Amino acid sequence: MRFNYMLPKTEQMRKCPDGRQHYYVPTSHMEAVIGHIAVRFRCKYCGELATAFLDNEKYKINEHLLTTYGA
Ligand SMILES: [Zn+2]
Repeated sequence: MRFNYMLPKTEQMRKCPDGRQHYYVPTSHMEAVIGHIAVRFRCKYCGELATAFLDNEKYKINEHLLTTYGA
């Protein structure tokens, strides 16, 4: 499952070195910052890292998915 929609638009527009769209999956790296949760994603194809800042509400909605797919 692709998690690109959780990332900022600027990250979603970037591509793998071979021109494919990144396939972001969550890592288990999550960090609480004031009012937000920073969740680290990694592209399954090229290993590129990207961080999404979810507000607490959005995090709660997605928490189950993130912890299920996080590796
Ligand atoms: Zn990629």
